[in-house]
Amino acid sequence: MLVLGAGIAGLAAARTLNSLGVSVIVLEARGRIGGRILTDRSLSGIPLDLGASWIHGIEKNPIAELARQLELSTRLSNYESVALFDKSGKRLSDREHQKVEQRFRRLMRKLEEVQRERIVKKLPDLALSDAIVQFGGSEGEPLTLDAELDFSINTTIEHEFAADVSDLSFYHWDQGEEPRGGDVLFRGGYDQIVNHLSDRLDVRLTHSVQLIDTSGPNVRVVTNQGEFRAKRVVVTLPLGVLKAGVIAFTPTLPLSKLRAIAGLGTGALNKVYLRFSDAFWPKDVDVISQIATRKGEWSEAYNLQPLLSEPILVCLNAGDYGQRIEAMPDHAIVGGAMQMLRRLFGPAIADPTGVVITRWMSDPFARGSYSHCPPGAAIEDYEALAQPVTAQLFFAGEATSRESPATVHGAYLSGLREAKRIALAIAADAHQEAR
Ligand SMILES: Cc1cc2nc3c(=O)[nH]c(=O)nc-3n(C[C@H](O)[C@H](O)[C@H](O)COP(=O)(O)OP(=O)(O)OC[C@H]3O[C@@H](n4cnc5c(N)ncnc54)[C@H](O)[C@@H]3O)c2cc1C
Repeated sequence: MLVLGAGIAGLAAARTLNSLGVSVIVLEARGRIGGRILTDRSLSGIPLDLGASWIHGIEKNPIAELARQLELSTRLSNYESVALFDKSGKRLSDREHQKVEQRFRRLMRKLEEVQRERIVKKLPDLALSDAIVQFGGSEGEPLTLDAELDFSINTTIEHEFAADVSDLSFYHWDQGEEPRGGDVLFRGGYDQIVNHLSDRLDVRLTHSVQLIDTSGPNVRVVTNQGEFRAKRVVVTLPLGVLKAGVIAFTPTLPLSKLRAIAGLGTGALNKVYLRFSDAFWPKDVDVISQIATRKGEWSEAYNLQPLLSEPILVCLNAGDYGQRIEAMPDHAIVGGAMQMLRRLFGPAIADPTGVVITRWMSDPFARGSYSHCPPGAAIEDYEALAQPVTAQLFFAGEATSRESPATVHGAYLSGLREAKRIALAIAADAHQEAR
């Protein structure tokens, strides 16, 4: 049995099958496990999560359950604890902040109504950005966006879905189950979870898969380090890698699968960790936000002092701008972050003493942060991606999760789902042979 990819989906599938006595080899292109779970310790050993950070919704979440079993220390994020600044760099009062939020909530309620009506009437899908303008105004007038609304749209939608609203489907952008119980961060890094899952697994690092051939009785997988054969293979490679067409499939994948790969999107969410000698920001807030002068640029930073007991901020940029900064040199990226911070906290604040920057779109083994549903795509595309091809080729990974795409727990559960499917297929084979 082969599992392709040692991210959380691949590790979950391999570990489950191993525990059932199935011999499994995991082929992983990188020199490390974890995929889009990556904890950096280059700044004096401080654990900084460059990929996934949060367990989204600790209620009935298998990752929260694992964290509890392993007695890992976590901290609940308080998204209500925000210092919001306006375009001039002035901190808004609670009342002013509430007004910004209320405006956005009103807009969303209006859009939900229109969305329901249009789906019932079977009207064609459109981009969420177009829907916001067309249906968000009053008395039938189009909505004129301003910096305040742009800020709410960017931090509430684009940061979560790692895509601009112009790249999201009006009908299906908010798919998946609502997480419950609050979100937590790990004090010691998310990699504690994948390290635990990989224990005693046969993971072959630096094995980059190039070809998957299901034309014979066994699946043939060609890597940069030779060929592997197995009766069954689980593909957990990121949607971005499948979309790039860098893996050859012989014969080609069924049309439904190709359509799903083309239809679903992958976007960028990038992080800039800044370590300072002292915290010059309000230490009691979880989030520092600014109504940006240019939409989507440096609108949100998380205060990690309460989590890590270190003066560290992590700035998030998503969608188009998140992708654009990947082409910039590090000093220009840090310059952008510092410009924003100096506007809010004064020109005298010192430069950071340490910096870590992510570029997930340019990462050849991720090619994006996670999946989203663009205009015209639908929930069925996630299901089509999850469908096995014959009894040999199985698919897992976050973009195969109908219930929780774009999350760690969705990816984890997809690995368990395919392990179960394979265990049933093995049992059916054994039954057949016994007859
Ligand atoms: C910046 C960022 C922030 C995020 N924040 C959160 C969060 O807070 N909470 C949350 O729940 N989720 C978050 N996510 C999403 C979450 O990280 C992913 O949904 C999840 O980790 C995906 O797991 P996976 O196993 O499906 O894919 P991956 O982790 O990408 O695993 C796939 C594996 O396949 C390997 N691979 C690729 N190409 C090849 C090849 N040719 N041959 C062999 N191996 C190959 C990759 O190296 C990788 O190890 C975030 C992601 C990013 C990038």
